[in-house]
Amino acid sequence: MNHYDCIVIGGGPAGLAATLTLGRARRNVAVFDNGTNRNRVTHASHGFLTRDGIKPHEFKAIGFRELQAYPSVSIFNNTIKEIKKDSETGLYVVYTDERQYQTENILLATGVQEKFSLPQIRDYYGKSLFSCPYCDGWELRDLPLAVIAENEAHAHHLAKLVFNWSKNLIVFTNGVEVSADIESDLMRNNIGIYTARIKHLHGNDGMLERIELETGEYITRKGGFVVPTFYRPNRFSEQLLCKTDEHHVIITDGVGRTSEKGIYTAGETEKLNPSSLLIAAAEGNRVATTINLDLTLDRF
Ligand SMILES: Cc1cc2nc3c(=O)[nH]c(=O)nc-3n(C[C@H](O)[C@H](O)[C@H](O)COP(=O)(O)OP(=O)(O)OC[C@H]3O[C@@H](n4cnc5c(N)ncnc54)[C@H](O)[C@@H]3O)c2cc1C
Repeated sequence: MNHYDCIVIGGGPAGLAATLTLGRARRNVAVFDNGTNRNRVTHASHGFLTRDGIKPHEFKAIGFRELQAYPSVSIFNNTIKEIKKDSETGLYVVYTDERQYQTENILLATGVQEKFSLPQIRDYYGKSLFSCPYCDGWELRDLPLAVIAENEAHAHHLAKLVFNWSKNLIVFTNGVEVSADIESDLMRNNIGIYTARIKHLHGNDGMLERIELETGEYITRKGGFVVPTFYRPNRFSEQLLCKTDEHHVIITDGVGRTSEKGIYTAGETEKLNPSSLLIAAAEGNRVATTINLDLTLDRF
């Protein structure tokens, strides 16, 4: 069985940046990725200094290509199905469908995924509906936009934010009533609000054109922003007994160490919340220095 200093699960910006730093620190490291990074649905990534507008698959390909310069780095295009701790050796064993690998340390960098209460949003997500105005607001500037959020606080907050990019804004709460205060705050800024349930989204090739309400009304919109629920795509941290807070966020020491020795986390996995490519990459870099420091102190 192969034996690694660290296995990185997830080759998004967090996992790739961590693997790069560990490889450069001459650590025997393996990175596993199964191509389910959540930004794969979009055509361009914005705001990463020197890479503004790059296609997500190109960004990832550059990251993997750079790792190939380091002989102690192994790359696997596989899904990790399970992780167990070997109580005799104290090592972790990670399993794909075909094989198992042994490691002293694990970095959980599997990110988060989105869930939408309106499944049809998937057809438009990443093309004309997005969740992060910093990522995609510029491309939608001044267009007639929708804010779709089924929680009044989220709807209010996101509307205020998106208002920076377009004043032609309508909030849709899909059946959730909002308080008179919030309604008047939105109307004061000429932001429309529909609380009726959404029946159907109409458009072509992922480009939104109209929103049909159960009241029979059709409202023209060219795109907008939605508030998904974010969740971790696996239970690795729970299975490994890493402590989480009341919101299921993994508790770390601020530099990536979890409550379990040898288990680290970075990127959106750590927060159970959206961030950005740049922030995830920075966190990957930071956790790698933590892992390398712990290995150094153990072995020196
Ligand atoms: C539509 C959309 C548009 C976006 N636009 C932008 C933008 O313009 N600019 C920006 O900065 N950010 C953007 N983002 C956000 C950005 O994608 C995330 O902030 C970033 O990808 C988080 O990085 P991460 O490394 O934490 O997770 P991810 O990038 O999601 O990477 C996690 C990786 O783990 C792998 N994985 C998961 N489970 C397993 C497993 N069991 N075994 C093996 N591998 C596994 C996946 O294949 C994936 O590659 C966008 C997101 C979306 C959804």
